[in-house]
Amino acid sequence: MNIQNKPPHEAPRRIQVSPRDNVAIIVNALGLPAGTEFPDGLVLNHFVPNGHKVALADIADGADILRYAEVIGTARGAIRRGDWINEDNVVMGTAPPLDQLDMATRPPPPPAPLTGYTFEGYRNADGTVGTKNILAVSTSVQCVAGTMEYALKRIKAELLPRYPNVDDVVALTHAYGCGVAINAPQAVVPIRTLQNLAQNPNFGGEVLVIGLGCEKLVPERLLPKGQDTGTMRMQDHEGFGANIAAILERVEERLKILDQRRRETVPAAELIVGMQCGGSDAFSGLTANPALGFCADLLVAAGATVMFSEVTEVRDAIHLLTPRAATRDVADALVREMRWYDSYLDNGGVDRGANTTPGNKKGGLSNIIEKSLGSVAKSGTSAISAVLAPGEKVRGRGLVFAATPASDFVCGTLQLASGMNLHVFTTGRGTPYGLAAVPVIKVSTRSELAQRWADLIDLDAGPIATGEKTIEQVGWELFQLILDVASGRKQVWADKWGLHNDLTLFNPAPVT
Ligand code: CA
Repeated sequence: MNIQNKPPHEAPRRIQVSPRDNVAIIVNALGLPAGTEFPDGLVLNHFVPNGHKVALADIADGADILRYAEVIGTARGAIRRGDWINEDNVVMGTAPPLDQLDMATRPPPPPAPLTGYTFEGYRNADGTVGTKNILAVSTSVQCVAGTMEYALKRIKAELLPRYPNVDDVVALTHAYGCGVAINAPQAVVPIRTLQNLAQNPNFGGEVLVIGLGCEKLVPERLLPKGQDTGTMRMQDHEGFGANIAAILERVEERLKILDQRRRETVPAAELIVGMQCGGSDAFSGLTANPALGFCADLLVAAGATVMFSEVTEVRDAIHLLTPRAATRDVADALVREMRWYDSYLDNGGVDRGANTTPGNKKGGLSNIIEKSLGSVAKSGTSAISAVLAPGEKVRGRGLVFAATPASDFVCGTLQLASGMNLHVFTTGRGTPYGLAAVPVIKVSTRSELAQRWADLIDLDAGPIATGEKTIEQVGWELFQLILDVASGRKQVWADKWGLHNDLTLFNPAPVT
């Protein structure tokens, strides 16, 4: 194949993020063959797939490989200008030491306020605002999950159609509650998560907990303090039929209340946006995540709350984050969460390198350092105003680091517990990810994915790579889309299809 024979739109394209970088990313969707010559004289020595790195200079054995002006590894063997660089010829270094970081040394000043943006939401008694009007039925133990599934089918068929202002009924089922070391210090994580999940702003404050009766996690522990109604135990009722009737009765009482609710105009400041990525590729850090980062800055300027997460995907970029902490306490909390996770992984006999997937590598990411540098682009440029331990409820506004594993479903579940009312999910490889509790806007890193999965991807950040759009343009498009989706004016693809993944609790404590 000869590059000269290709149509003009297939001219070889590459992106170098920083002038300091000695690698660039190949943009062409089908990759580029060996012998391809760029206008500046760079000639490819190998076929280089889409999203993969090409050496812009000779790199000596053991010398640094730079992307995003950061060292992503060192050369394994001599690398020549024009060589394909992938996980085989990159040696990954160690993570930044946690005791040598700049702590809150360069917090960015508050942005100029962005005013005049609103959405139509459901205001709650506790001051939060929902983007949907959902009844959640929580459960205190896995034993009742099958019963809830049965009840939910009947609720959706028999009750929900009579209450047209209620968007949905969801069951918060999980694998916790019994057979667990409930007094272990780390049991605080799953228990706090379940407590706070039931109070997500999209559930309107109507908490109902179904329990069994003999479990360790008693249903009352999942109710907000001071609330003593809203629980039932299956073992208190005569037979399965009576249990289902009791659940339906309690559900209908709450549907009647939620059906009275109406959307009202509220400031964009009421948004609590959870951000994460999944199925990342080398474009994640060039297109979707920087656009989301720009959007995060807009949301912060509008007074909203924006959460980024995924400890193993910020660990290798932590030296870029601790200087941005608003205060020394926030920087200390960032380090505390990194240290906790280092030790969690260490106890399991792995390190943060266990994060990258075969799909990440196929998409051009050589290791977790490169993946992390692209991942933290989501956080934009604002000061980090607070840090949450896994499952803690968000307090205050601005850019918040909510510590979670990077696993998509665990991260999403923890961000729901922290109180997000809308989720933005960036993906390079593609995933049908969705959550029942909040709208999930999926942003693709590449146009090829957006075209192939046109009925799953809500926004395409790919045109940034081809120069057709800027990061700022896509960031504004996403901001407007968030306001439309939060208002119920636009429906995300996951909701159109009803693609809702199960909740997945993070339980770092022992199971008995
Ligand atoms: Ca993830």
